[in-house]
Amino acid sequence: MSEEKKISVAIDGPSGAGKSTIAKMVSNRFGFVYVDTGAVYRTVGLFVKRAGVSPRSEQDVSGLLPSIHMDICYDDSGLQRMILGGEDVTESIREPEISRYASDVSALPSVRAFLLDMQRDVARKRSVVMDGRDIGTVVLPQADVKIFLTASAEERAKRRYLELCSKGVKTNYHDVYAQMKERDKNDSSRAISPLRPAKDSITIDTTQLGLEQSYEKVAGLIKKAACK
Ligand code: C5P
Repeated sequence: MSEEKKISVAIDGPSGAGKSTIAKMVSNRFGFVYVDTGAVYRTVGLFVKRAGVSPRSEQDVSGLLPSIHMDICYDDSGLQRMILGGEDVTESIREPEISRYASDVSALPSVRAFLLDMQRDVARKRSVVMDGRDIGTVVLPQADVKIFLTASAEERAKRRYLELCSKGVKTNYHDVYAQMKERDKNDSSRAISPLRPAKDSITIDTTQLGLEQSYEKVAGLIKKAACK
């Protein structure tokens, strides 16, 4: 691939579809910067939780935004870390409760506007692979490759459950499934930037696909775009 050509890849889809795993593989293989935008919403969610205000209150949350000091950093292996007020919160934002806070604050117009420039800034100078819910529709509408990665709710809940178990988080499949359905509903039904495929995106359903097969499909689309 030509080194000069700047490529942007948008991977959107519901939680548990495999977006971040595939995006990390793309980042390793192609040397693109990986931006996990869900982590940015999660960091706002954590901040709001710590501040003790309702994550659904536009007024309260928008009042807090000027005091958030948040940075996206990359460690030596290129993995994204989230820094909140100088503290590395990369692990804390993965707690299931923070998923709900992230989903709630992400429906607020002030939060989405606040984070838009931050996300676009990263893509301005370098090739990126960015995953989220509205990357192809709102954040990077000119992305070279737009993918909508999905899978059945049952399969996504199974994957998330196994992931949490492997991290030693005590939970059960039914709770994970219920929370996933709730988040799907929240993310798809909100008025602003709802989760939906961009008109010019390619949908990849990974329900019946292994990781390598899913990755190969994505990588094929990137190689095609890079040759244009
Ligand atoms: O991707 P992840 O599950 O970490 O995202 C957490 C939450 O952040 C999602 O449920 C969604 O509500 C929100 N989000 C969003 N827009 C994005 C990325 C995440 O609204 N681009």
